[in-house]
Amino acid sequence: MAELTYDFNMNRFKNRLDTFKDWPFTEETGSCCTAVKMAEAGFFHSANDSADVARCFVCLKELEGWEPEDNPFEEHRKHSPKCEFLLLNKKEEDWTVQEFLELETKRQISRMQKIIELKTKEYLELAEHVQSEMEKLV
Ligand SMILES: [Zn+2]
Repeated sequence: MAELTYDFNMNRFKNRLDTFKDWPFTEETGSCCTAVKMAEAGFFHSANDSADVARCFVCLKELEGWEPEDNPFEEHRKHSPKCEFLLLNKKEEDWTVQEFLELETKRQISRMQKIIELKTKEYLELAEHVQSEMEKLV
């Protein structure tokens, strides 16, 4: 759950870019999904996960299995078409305070949805476990 709490500073392009230190796709290898392009498309490198996992700081959509020819904006749009960051379609230096606050609101909503999903999964697993234990008693 801790992974869902540190995303706030990922609203800055530079902070997102800094997370891509060990990113395997570089300009030298002719990749489209370089660190700069990933960060521009709203992604940061989720450090605790496998090597090529990236997450959007607003919709929190996590994408992995990146290919060198992948376009980060297109992949983002394909997998999360309603992401507010994509819909806003502005660089951070052009955001108004209002827009910044709206993005933060959407980010919090995404975060709560993720937490609810995780908790629901936990409770379903627990319920299944309890049920199987009870069946052993019959
Ligand atoms: Zn997004």
